[in-house]
Amino acid sequence: MPDGPAPDLQGESAIRRREPDPSRRDMTYPPLPEALRVGVYDNHTHLEIEDGEDGLDWREQLDRASAVGVRGVVQVGTDVVTSRWSAATAATDPRMLAAVAVHPNETPELTSAGGIDDALAEIDRLAGLPRVRAVGETGLDFYRTGEAGRPAQIAAFEAHIAIAKEHGLALQIHDRDAHQEVVDTLQRVGAPDRTVFHCFSGDAALAQLATSHGWYLSFAGTVTFKKAERLQEALAVAPRSRILVETDAPYLAPVPVRGRPNAPYLVPHTLRAMAALLDTDPSMLAAQIASNTEAVYGSWDAEPPVPSAPPRRT
Ligand SMILES: [Zn+2]
Repeated sequence: MPDGPAPDLQGESAIRRREPDPSRRDMTYPPLPEALRVGVYDNHTHLEIEDGEDGLDWREQLDRASAVGVRGVVQVGTDVVTSRWSAATAATDPRMLAAVAVHPNETPELTSAGGIDDALAEIDRLAGLPRVRAVGETGLDFYRTGEAGRPAQIAAFEAHIAIAKEHGLALQIHDRDAHQEVVDTLQRVGAPDRTVFHCFSGDAALAQLATSHGWYLSFAGTVTFKKAERLQEALAVAPRSRILVETDAPYLAPVPVRGRPNAPYLVPHTLRAMAALLDTDPSMLAAQIASNTEAVYGSWDAEPPVPSAPPRRT
């Protein structure tokens, strides 16, 4: 494993700190869950965002993940700086692949400021780098962005879809309170071959519709929440070949550690809860999800990471 600091490109630091939320009482990282016997991947995480009182850096996060059978992660960018960091960091560690995009909540302001074309050109360049295997997270968020921001979000979503198709990459969709418009956009412009609804938040009807198109549903800690019946029904009707698992860390920690800092090493809680809901064996479900995840993003081993320092000759 290379050591030394994470890539800090062109002097920009991508490392962010999660904003404190007074409703969260326990800000320490939870203990490691029992290791999975069959490994899976966390296909959506944000390791550049530090959280908790006892902040863990991205390498410690990945070490903990490895210790409990989480073989690798897809590290997801949300703007140009974090997308560059994701691509550069994935290039140094075999446990990480990258996704690059400008998040839909960022696109309206960037569009009014005249910066969207340059940002999309940079995402397009990053999408061509080794170990960048997805364009995301992109999509539509009508929860945080009002009517006025919608045209900018839709235009940027379409541009991201085009980048994914051009590079033959998977698409990771952020869909918040915008189910119909997300589906309409995918149908209007044509979805990439591998399309993932990250942190799926729809009901059984949307699960059936999306999977009938061959799209994937990625379940986060939200599926473990007590009041998540609609989401649990969606899981139940989805073909097993279309299910993925993720953390969206540091957000959305699963039961029984809800409210605490989230991290890829906590995926086993979500995986086991999903297996219980589906009345199946966790190892069987993990094997299925691992193979689905590799079908979407390819192998984590396919392109050997570039060491950050040249190997020493003896
Ligand atoms: Zn995310």
